[in-house]
Amino acid sequence: MSPTENSSNIMPTYRRTDLRFVSGAGAWLTTDTGDKYLDFGSGIAVNTLGHAHPRLVGALQTQAEKLWHVSNLYDIPGQEALAAHLCAESFADLVFFCNSGAEAAEGMIKTMRKYHATHNQPARVTLISFAGAFHGRTLAALAAAGNPDYLQGFGPAPVGFAQCPEFSIAALEELVDDTTAGILIEPIQGEGGVRAVPPAFLRDLREFCDAHGLLLGFDEVQCGIGRTGRLFAHEWAGVTPDVMAIAKGIGGGFPLGAILATHAVGSCMQPGSHGSTYGGNPLAMAVGKEVLDVVCADGFLETVNDTAGYLRQQLSALVDKYPDIVSELRGTGLMIGLKCVCENTALVASLRGERMLSVPAGENTVRLLPPLNIEREDIRFAMDALEQACAHLRDEKAGTV
Ligand SMILES: *Cc1c(COP(=O)(O)O)cnc(C)c1O
Repeated sequence: MSPTENSSNIMPTYRRTDLRFVSGAGAWLTTDTGDKYLDFGSGIAVNTLGHAHPRLVGALQTQAEKLWHVSNLYDIPGQEALAAHLCAESFADLVFFCNSGAEAAEGMIKTMRKYHATHNQPARVTLISFAGAFHGRTLAALAAAGNPDYLQGFGPAPVGFAQCPEFSIAALEELVDDTTAGILIEPIQGEGGVRAVPPAFLRDLREFCDAHGLLLGFDEVQCGIGRTGRLFAHEWAGVTPDVMAIAKGIGGGFPLGAILATHAVGSCMQPGSHGSTYGGNPLAMAVGKEVLDVVCADGFLETVNDTAGYLRQQLSALVDKYPDIVSELRGTGLMIGLKCVCENTALVASLRGERMLSVPAGENTVRLLPPLNIEREDIRFAMDALEQACAHLRDEKAGTV
C-alpha cells in the first residue's frame, strides 16, 4: 500500500512533535538539522544514564558480537546474573523477565491471581487499583487502571478489576470482598501527574493486605531504578510488596521489563504458567546488568539525591517566582512534576522553544525526568530554559507579546 494522505505508513496512534533526533550523547539529543536539545524527558524515564553511555554501548556491542537470541528453551546465564543482582538489592527472591512495562504489569496481575488459585482460593481474582493509575496498554493493564478513555472502542474489558477513588483505607474497605486478590499501586503515579502516594498510606496498605490475606503489588515501571534517589521508590516508605513490576529505567533504552516476587508468590508460577519469546534475551540482559551495576555502585544514588536537592531547590524558587504559571513542585528525587497553572502542553512547547525536552502528564503537570547522571552544568541550562519559558508564558498571559 502506498503512503496515506499525510504520507505516513505509521498507524496514527501518537500525537508526535515534529522533531527528528538522529543522535544523542549524555543528556543531549541532536536533530537531523543539527539542533541540540537538553533531554529532561529521557524517553519517559527510560534513559537512566542518558544517551550513548559508554558502558551501555560497550556491553551491547560485546554481546552483539557473541549471541543475540536463543529463546527460553535454554538456560540464559545473563538472566541468572541480573536476577541475582535484582534480588540482592530488593525484597524479591524470584524474577521473570519480559520486554515492557505493560507486560510486566500484566504478568504481575497473573502472578497475583495464580497465587490465590494455588492456595485453593481461585475465586480471589479481583485486583484493586487507584484513581489516576497507569499500568500500560494491554487490555488487562487498561482494565486494571480503569481509565474509561483508554478502553473506549476496544470491546469488553477484562473483568476482575476495581478502582479505589482515593488513597484511603476506609475507601478500600468498601471494595474488598472474598473475590479480592490484591492491591496494585504505583508508589508514585507517573502518567497520573507525578502523584506521590503518602508513605504512611503505603505502610497502612501493607498492614491491610496482611490482615486480609491480600497481595500487595507495586508498579515501579516508572518510579523504580534510582529515579527517586533510592533503587526502588517504595524504600522511602520502608515497606515491601509481594510482587513488583519494573521496566523503563532498567533497560536504559533497551526494551526490558521484569516481574519481581517473593519466593512464596513467585514460586506459584510453574513451568507452562507464563512465558515470553524475547523475555530475558541476552542483549537485554547485557544492558540491564550494566545499568544496575552503575546505579548500585557506591555513591551513585547519593549523587542522585544531591543532584535532586540542587535541582528541586531551584525549582521551588521558580514556583515561588511564577505562581501564575506553575503552582506546585511534585515527586521525589529526579521524578519531578510541575503542576501548571497555564496549560501543561504550553509549558512543554515553550520549553521546547528553549531547547529543552519535558513530558506532559495528568492533572495538568509537566514531568521533568532527567538522566540520573545529569551534570550541574546541564541543570543550569535547564533552569535558564525554565526561567525563559515561564517569563515568556507570563508575557503571553499579560498580552504583551
Ligand atoms: C510506562 C508505564 C507502564 C507501561 O510501560 P510500557 O513499556 O509502555 O508498556 C506501566 N506502568 C507504569 C507505572 C508506567 O509508567
